[in-house]
Amino acid sequence: MLKSILSGEDCAACRFCCSFRRKSLWETPLFDKATKEILEKKYPQAKFKKAGKESFTVDLLHLYKSDDSEEEAACPFLSESGCVLSKDEKPFDCSIWPLRATKIEGKVKVMLENTCPAINRQPIENVENLVKSGLSKKIISYAEKNPDMLKDFQDGFVILG
Ligand code: SF4
Ligand code: SF4
Repeated sequence: MLKSILSGEDCAACRFCCSFRRKSLWETPLFDKATKEILEKKYPQAKFKKAGKESFTVDLLHLYKSDDSEEEAACPFLSESGCVLSKDEKPFDCSIWPLRATKIEGKVKVMLENTCPAINRQPIENVENLVKSGLSKKIISYAEKNPDMLKDFQDGFVILG
């Protein structure tokens, strides 16, 4: 989450981005191999699977209890008090949500997804200013080194940088 423009209260009441319907499984967070190996030891209940060339993500398929396409499965690192991961363990994806990196005409771009209710209640200028203040460079640089995190652009998303 974008801590500088989101409040802990908003997120505590929501948690949308830490739970996933089947159609949102493309959104589960990515971990590098070293972090995955640490987390497997610390949290044996968490299952991982390969995602892209170098990355791993949480495998949630076994957590669904019905065929309901609206059923959500929570990330195994979500507790009653929020994410249990330390700053070093938390995926970059999670720290920048609802921003994402995409590739358009060969160039990495920063896009804003349209499903975070707390961001959607704010003027888009708040996110634009944050992105322009240096976050865009950080995301693009990270995505160029970690192309597994690139997501497809979709209708409703907004390119910001
Ligand atoms: S979707 Fe937005 S408001 Fe909800 S928990 Fe995630 S960052 Fe917070
Ligand atoms: S790793 Fe933490 S912040 Fe990311 S989806 Fe899981 S619980 Fe949420």
